Formats: sequence, structure tokens, C-alpha cells
Amino acid sequence: MSKTNPPTTSREGLTWAKLLRFFSLPFFPGKLKTFLAVKRFEEVPIDSILAAGIKGVLIDADGTLCEHHSREFSPAVIEHVQKMISAGLKVGIYTNAFEDRFEIFTGVEIVTDVHPKPDPRGFLSAMKNHLRMEYPNEVCMIGDNYITDGGAIPAGMLFIYIQPIKGNENLLHSLFRAYGASLAKFYFPDKFRGM
Ligand SMILES: [Mg+2]
Repeated sequence: MSKTNPPTTSREGLTWAKLLRFFSLPFFPGKLKTFLAVKRFEEVPIDSILAAGIKGVLIDADGTLCEHHSREFSPAVIEHVQKMISAGLKVGIYTNAFEDRFEIFTGVEIVTDVHPKPDPRGFLSAMKNHLRMEYPNEVCMIGDNYITDGGAIPAGMLFIYIQPIKGNENLLHSLFRAYGASLAKFYFPDKFRGM
């Protein structure tokens, strides 16, 4: 069992941006446009990201890098983040949950003090203030949740979907997440072949 913190509610609760995205997704498949879908974070192909002209990545934490609210990260995950940095990518971790658990990731920006996902303003502030970048089409968001992380898509960024690492998240959270993924699979089945 991994060490976990009690759930924090400050930025993880229901917001208008989340509700709006939730209800609009079935009618605007463009908001689900997926660059790639992979099973695990460490399978994200760095070559493909670079070939697409990406210079910076924003990475979700819970369900993507670790179990929900965990402070433990697998060596493979830590190594893959370091490979991204070595490849010349700017890397930031952008989570709606608490942010004081990423000391193990050296050279990574921890995105704080921006609007919670999926508000497009949060993604754009993370890009400008943390990655020090100007153009959203040079940024890729990597995450397990189309409702929250997928807000990067209407912000003009590429999106890589990771199959969620199962953890102790609540049922509503899991259902929201599964709903987004099933819509994306419906509209972009080609991206999910091999998952
Ligand atoms: Mg997540």
C-alpha cells in the first residue's frame, strides 16, 4: 500500500468549468481530440512528441504518475520524466490536488497558483509562468482525465491520454473520468487501438 494524504478539496471540487465541459463534450468531439493514448506514462513516446514539434509537457499527477493522492512514484515513472528533460523538453506537473510531494522530480516545474483544470486560463498560465513558453501548439498535456486534463485541448495544446492508475479515488471521480474516456473512444477509436 502506498502512503496517501487525506483528500484535499480546495481545487478538486466541482467547478463551473468542469460542469460546462462535462455537458458539452458529447456535442463537441473536437474538445476530445487525442494525439495519443497509451497504457502507462512511461510508454509515452518521446520521439513522437518531439516529431510533433512539442517543446514542453504538462503532466497530471494523480492516476497518471501515481495512484490517487500518493506520494510514491515508481522508478520507471521518475526515469521517464528525466528522459523527457534530457531530450530537451520543458516539464511541469499540473495537478488540482496538493503540490508538495514532487521533490523527487528534479528540474520539473510544479504548477501552482493557476486556475484549476479544466479552465483554459490555468493551462495558459502554466505554459507562460511555469514552462516559460508562448505557444500552446508547442505544449502537450499528459493525463488520465478528459474532463479535467482534457481542458488543454480547447486551450490549443496536444493531449495524450494515459489509462488511469487505479487508486482510492471516489466513485464520482471514477465515473466522471470513465465518461470522458468512453466519449473519446467513441469519437476517436483509432487512437485507442492496442490499449
Ligand atoms: Mg488524474
